[in-house]
Order: sequence, then structure tokens, then C-alpha cells
Amino acid sequence: MTLTKSLKMNELIATYGNVREEITAAGAALVAVSKTKPASQIMELYELGQRDFGENRVAELVEKHEQLPQDIRWHFIGHLQRNKVKAIAPFVYLIHAVDSERLLREIDKQALANDRQIPVLLQFHIAEEVAKYGLDAEAGKTLLRQLKEQPLTNAYIAGLMGMATYTDKEAQISAEFAQLQTTAKNYLASTFIGDDRFRELSMGMSGDYKIALAHGSTLVRIGSMLFGSR
Ligand SMILES: *Cc1c(COP(=O)(O)O)cnc(C)c1O
Repeated sequence: MTLTKSLKMNELIATYGNVREEITAAGAALVAVSKTKPASQIMELYELGQRDFGENRVAELVEKHEQLPQDIRWHFIGHLQRNKVKAIAPFVYLIHAVDSERLLREIDKQALANDRQIPVLLQFHIAEEVAKYGLDAEAGKTLLRQLKEQPLTNAYIAGLMGMATYTDKEAQISAEFAQLQTTAKNYLASTFIGDDRFRELSMGMSGDYKIALAHGSTLVRIGSMLFGSR
């Protein structure tokens, strides 16, 4: 190993150790976002004990799943197209960003075809930025009603996910995460009362995970802080 390489490795070990400890101490789990990063870099974290990795492109995820150890828990964190659900349904661990009934029905169907139960998170739009994806409060209610009328069989709602505005205004990020936490609490007290499968709140990235942890995040999705900028 070259000197610069071993120095970089020491840095990774320190950063990873610290962030994992901070997240675990808050009662949450770390999803290492490995999108665009090669298998070799994923293996460096794997060797340090990391098992949860997040990807946002289906083809890349499928390829990495084939190449890498089978005990990795693969999280799909990006926008998922319905015609690509089939490719990841056999192995995906958790789908983070579901925001339509049609997508949810397709995941349910492919989960059944694979004789699996697949957990998904409902993505809410909490940022002030205009975004294509994510439910608002009204759409969330509509989706819950649709699920009541026609329950899922093999997919299930394991919680909520959201992304805060990309800003350095901490008060704003905090308010957005607080809003999602409130929605999760309301869901837990109504539709999901007594359902212990509804327990995840996926929020927080490299730039705002500390704020997310303060608002009850259970899954933080960290990429650049571990792997360097993309
Ligand atoms: C890329 C990505 C992350 C990680 O972002 P970093 O700022 O690199 O930590 C988290 N969540 C989603 C949905 C992403 O697409």
C-alpha cells in the first residue's frame, strides 16, 4: 500500500468510526450511500463492518449486488421507475422513496412474484424547493385511503422518508425535519397504530444528519462524508 493510500485509509477509519458512533448513540442506523463509487471503495467500508449501503440507480445496484458480498443490505434511495422494480425485487432490502400508488402496487406484485415481503418508505416532499417527487399531506391521505380499500399483500409501509432543502439555514432544515417527524407520529397514532413494522424515519444526509438525528431520524443516508465528493 502506498503512503497516501494508507493515510486515506486511516482517515476513512476515523471518519467512519466517529459518524457511526454518533448515529448509533442517537438510536439510528447508518446507510452508506455508495452511488457512483466502485466496488473497491464499498469493500473498504464492508471490511470495517458496514452492511447497509444505498444506491439510486437500478442498473448500478444490480451490478454491485452481483459483484459484492451477499450479506450486504441494499437500500434503494432514488426515484424508482415501475418497469425497473422487477430487477431489484429479488434482493432489495428497503425501498426508501415511494410516492405513488402505482409504484407501490408494482412493488407489491413483484414482491409476491418473488415470494418476499418488501418494506418501503413513503417519501414526503418537505423541502421548499419545487421537486418532482414526494407526497404532500393530501396525497399521503389519499394513498392511505387507497391502501385501506385494497390492502397490500407483499409490500408493506415501514415508515417515511424525506429530504430537507439544500440550504445552510439550520432553522429551516430543522423545521422541515420536524414536520416529517410530526407526520410520522400522526400516522403511527392512526393508520399504523399497533403496527410495529412502521418504525423508520429516513432523513438526514452528510450536510444535515445531525439535525435529522435531533428530530428522531432512524436511518441517515450518508455519501460524500464517507466516500468523498462525487
Ligand atoms: C446522494 C444521496 C444521499 C447522500 O448524500 P450526501 O450528501 O453525499 O451524503 C442521501 N440521500 C439521497 C436520496 C441521495 O440521493
